[in-house]
Amino acid sequence: MQTQIAIAGAGLAAALTALRLLSRPDCPSVILADPAPLTGRTWSFHEHDISASDREWLAPAVAYQWAGQDVRFPGNIRSLRAGYATITPTSMAGALRHPQLTMMQARVQSLSPDHMLLDDGTRIDTRCVIDARGIVAHPAMDIAFQKFLGQEVELDAPHGLTRPIIMDATVDQVDGYRFVYVLPFGPNRLLIEDTRYSDTATLSAEGVRAAIGEYANSQGWTITRILAEEQGALPLMLGFDPKAFWADAHLPRIGMRAAQFHPVTGYSLPDAVRTSAVVEAHWHKGSDALAHAIRQDALSRTTRFYRLLNRMLFRAADPAQRRHVMNRFYRLPEPLIERFYAGRTTPADMARILIGKPPVPIRRALRALPERISDV
Ligand SMILES: Cc1cc2nc3c(=O)[nH]c(=O)nc-3n(C[C@H](O)[C@H](O)[C@H](O)COP(=O)(O)OP(=O)(O)OC[C@H]3O[C@@H](n4cnc5c(N)ncnc54)[C@H](O)[C@@H]3O)c2cc1C
Repeated sequence: MQTQIAIAGAGLAAALTALRLLSRPDCPSVILADPAPLTGRTWSFHEHDISASDREWLAPAVAYQWAGQDVRFPGNIRSLRAGYATITPTSMAGALRHPQLTMMQARVQSLSPDHMLLDDGTRIDTRCVIDARGIVAHPAMDIAFQKFLGQEVELDAPHGLTRPIIMDATVDQVDGYRFVYVLPFGPNRLLIEDTRYSDTATLSAEGVRAAIGEYANSQGWTITRILAEEQGALPLMLGFDPKAFWADAHLPRIGMRAAQFHPVTGYSLPDAVRTSAVVEAHWHKGSDALAHAIRQDALSRTTRFYRLLNRMLFRAADPAQRRHVMNRFYRLPEPLIERFYAGRTTPADMARILIGKPPVPIRRALRALPERISDV
């Protein structure tokens, strides 16, 4: 078989990259190979995470969008103006229907700069190969976790929400910083996710399902049916050695495979959109040139400040204090919050976030300042 671009994996990063390429009038032929393409999760983003021009080609993949969002902390209930949007596997699959795209339900065995080999022995010759097979542990990363379980549920009556609750942190604090995330998918339909910022990746699914039921009851909602469930433990970066990470990246990598996610949220959609522009600009030069361009782009971004904040949250703050840190953040001006999630925090924002009486013990804050990667 032959194609111009062969992508191993058909998760978020692969799908976004394909979508951008397919939106071009001169789009190349693309093959995505994955044993379980586009499965098991919804992907959301804040309006300001993505530029207006990128939102145009992304639009066909968006299933839901809202004009604002809310956060709830003890003593701080706040409505924010920033829009929010969600892509589902179904909406993404619909947007990717295109004669130039072939989706193969197959596991990739190996990759080389000029071909991709599938488990069944099929060889796909290509000008450009891309590795989008999701996250792998790497010694250059020191991570904690945002772990969660979410249920899409149907209620017996309308819930009345018109916008997402991005964080309802008025709930009991267990296993680190805990909050509930609620997306209104329809008048009687919600995605309710119970999330914890924790030192460990393990989560008792039964316990969290019960907690979601209790939360729904506390809001006066009666769940009549569970339509879907998703679970994750997203990496939150406390320390990172980019040079060590990229030293052995000889083939182009995108998405979580390229450690491209927001260190404080574990969300990768905005970074994947940005990297898709690098693919668009360089794929035609071949795999080696694209690998070089992606590495250069990655090394030009600095996420050092976000990693410092994570160390303050996980190393300096007691688990019980983490909510206090987040509550303080959510009292800051909206443009600063928007830039934070978009990964565009300015030096003035950094000063603003750090200024004032630190909500963590000063001695422990000082100890958390240096960035050490335990295993490198
Ligand atoms: C439940 C959940 C919800 C999330 N929600 C959001 C969100 O709302 N917003 C956001 O920005 N981020 C979110 N994330 C975080 C992150 O953006 C996602 O994990 C995202 O899917 C990562 O994209 P990716 O393409 O790098 O990896 P993935 O989407 O994980 O895709 C990797 C793909 O590679 C495939 N694969 C693995 N090995 C092989 C192989 N040998 N051959 C072929 N294919 C292979 C896998 O089957 C998989 O489909 C969420 C994560 C989870 C787990």
